[in-house]
Amino acid sequence: MSKKIKRRDFMITSAAAGLTIAAAKSKGSPSAPLMLVPSSVKPVVVSSANGNRFKHTGNETAVQKAFEMITQGADVLDAVIAGVNIVELDPLDDSVGYGGLPNAEGVVQLDSSCMHGPRKRAGAVGALEGVRTPSLVAQSVLDNTDHHLIVGRGAQEYARSMGFKIEDDLNTEHSRKLWLEWKRKIDPEHYLDPKKRAEAGHRAALEMLAAGRLREENMHGTINCDGINAKGEICGVTTTSGLSWKIPGRLGDSPILGAGLYVDGAVGAAGSTGRGEANLYNLCSFVIIEEMRRGAHPKDAGMEVLKRIKANTIEKRLLKADGNPNFGINFYIINAQGEYAGVSMYQAKYAMCNEGGPQTLNTEPLLPGRPSE
Ligand code: ASP
Repeated sequence: MSKKIKRRDFMITSAAAGLTIAAAKSKGSPSAPLMLVPSSVKPVVVSSANGNRFKHTGNETAVQKAFEMITQGADVLDAVIAGVNIVELDPLDDSVGYGGLPNAEGVVQLDSSCMHGPRKRAGAVGALEGVRTPSLVAQSVLDNTDHHLIVGRGAQEYARSMGFKIEDDLNTEHSRKLWLEWKRKIDPEHYLDPKKRAEAGHRAALEMLAAGRLREENMHGTINCDGINAKGEICGVTTTSGLSWKIPGRLGDSPILGAGLYVDGAVGAAGSTGRGEANLYNLCSFVIIEEMRRGAHPKDAGMEVLKRIKANTIEKRLLKADGNPNFGINFYIINAQGEYAGVSMYQAKYAMCNEGGPQTLNTEPLLPGRPSE
């Protein structure tokens, strides 16, 4: 710490933000290291780039909404979830919530997790069908159960019992059209394209990408949103329709604590979008938090996990000709001082909102170029 920084500008925090030294000592918990954090933090919200793109029926993006609520004194988790609800409900974002691209059987299955830093609570749902806002079901798991993760039919029954509206089908005309196009490519003998009945297809999604029918973020699309308020309270949420055309029941990183999201109220928050399997293998959000606990800046902590992903990616099908990964993966990170970063394997964008208003910024890439050659 610089000598110029006065001690009164900092407080010592432990398990929950705002604990005094005495209270923390009396708890005597060796697993809750004391940390110096600013006694007043500049609130900030970071998210994936779609957090500053979609507005659904309102006039605010996710990061704007979350930041506004945080500065008006709302609970930070309520704020970031209200932000991502905008994207979940907006059918134009086909990677999250309603209108998210479906699985291999044409069914939209949604994943979400959330963590409350100060309360040290977590909730998540996986492969949830029929609820437009899985993040609210994840928050309900956090608030109302002893569990951290509920999946599949159980998640839907849980949501129904908690009063969530269950819909038969979360596809939109757009998501069903793209799914049918994909199905015709991978299974042309059963799903006939009236115009190209004779054409056999393979590597369908890549062909669709090359033809501009899909964007990289459609195949891997999600929103993660993390926020910190002036008291240094940190929360985060991640919500997604997951990998398009996935095997039914596949969970990616988004609902898994430590992968798609991790929050430690005394250290920071990290969340992810991109190839979930790469994140699951390395549990990157947890590693980022541990790097920051040891003093790393959010950007350096993010670079560390990107290097680890690169080192652990050795299968040829996942590599470009130059030996680098052929997929994108991004991390959005805040520490307890309110410092933040967006980092990625290849150049990407992320969203941020602070007192200066919402912005879409360039991430810090580990590698030059793009995931596809
Ligand atoms: N990470 C998400 C998943 O693997 C998808 C994405 O963000 O692209 O399910």
